[in-house]
Amino acid sequence: MVSVVVPIYNEEELILRFHEAVANALEHVGDWEIVYVNDGSTDSSLDLLRELQTVDSHVVVVELSRNWGHMGAIAAGLQTARGRAVILMDGDFQDPPEVLPQLIKSWRDGAEVVVAVRRTRQESRRLLAALFPLFYRVLGTLSDYPIPLNAGIFSLMDRRAVDSVNAMGERNRYLPGLRAWVGYKNAIVYYDRHDRAGGDGKLSLFSRIKYAMDAITSFSYKPLRLSFALFMVTTFVAAFLAVSMLLPKNIVEIAALGVAAAVFFVGGLLLLCLGVLGEYIGRVYDEVRSRPLSIINRVYASPLRTSVPVGMVAVQGGNHRGEDEVTEAA
Ligand code: UDP
Ligand code: MG
Repeated sequence: MVSVVVPIYNEEELILRFHEAVANALEHVGDWEIVYVNDGSTDSSLDLLRELQTVDSHVVVVELSRNWGHMGAIAAGLQTARGRAVILMDGDFQDPPEVLPQLIKSWRDGAEVVVAVRRTRQESRRLLAALFPLFYRVLGTLSDYPIPLNAGIFSLMDRRAVDSVNAMGERNRYLPGLRAWVGYKNAIVYYDRHDRAGGDGKLSLFSRIKYAMDAITSFSYKPLRLSFALFMVTTFVAAFLAVSMLLPKNIVEIAALGVAAAVFFVGGLLLLCLGVLGEYIGRVYDEVRSRPLSIINRVYASPLRTSVPVGMVAVQGGNHRGEDEVTEAA
């Protein structure tokens, strides 16, 4: 069986159209399920998904206890999916359903992780369009482990890779990085990324910046070494000033300005280093508390199927479809 995991947050405009497109794309796949993770939507998304289940037995709905964000929703979906292969994709047509058969073909040909890489990208939001290439350039330069760039969550993972990713307890996840890090036989499928098909983008600029920082901090120690590089710079400047003091001069104002500039310069460098340290320490704190990535409230199978395991479970490496769980829902 192939599972498709789709995080959903206020996508009422797109859900039905999206589901139809995915169902068409998977027509010839045989056994498949689609796991919609409702990430605390405040619109009618959940109702639409539950309705969809009454007419399509492939649909599984995971209801999270609140809005946990993109990565939390993906984590819950990865825990719930039962397929031999699991596809991750967004529900806004930016990850085009037409590409699904290619991912599956590549997997059937022997690949265990098939990453969909953007050949081109349409992005109507100017700021983002400028920030994406910058982010990938920085990540590519800093990362201590090779991560395919220009790839998001859109991918297929074999059960073995999914289990490896699920077993990792990291709190601040950068999935494209972890997916590369677990290894296995990789393949790439190229596609053209379009703009969102309707509705507004759901991720705030702040959450994107946090995600970018997660990516860099979880795959690179280089920013921590920044303080050493800056130490060299300040030492050099200090030495230069010391030497120049020996030279005859009398312009008091210039000296005063120089001192002020030096104080700000060094102060700025110190704050920068503290900021970098803070980013890492905050994440260490998250790891120590080891709170779950998200909490599943209920899992609904289609009423057209027979057994329905349900439960309220924290997503951290456990099995959320425990056989002993009560049957409810529908
Ligand atoms: N999403 C989610 N929880 C959130 C924000 C977004 O599950 O808190 C879902 C959203 O419904 C979509 C996917 O994650 O299916 C990607 O979100 P979006 O398209 O807004 O991000 P972008 O493509 O703008 O990066
Ligand atoms: Mg999107």
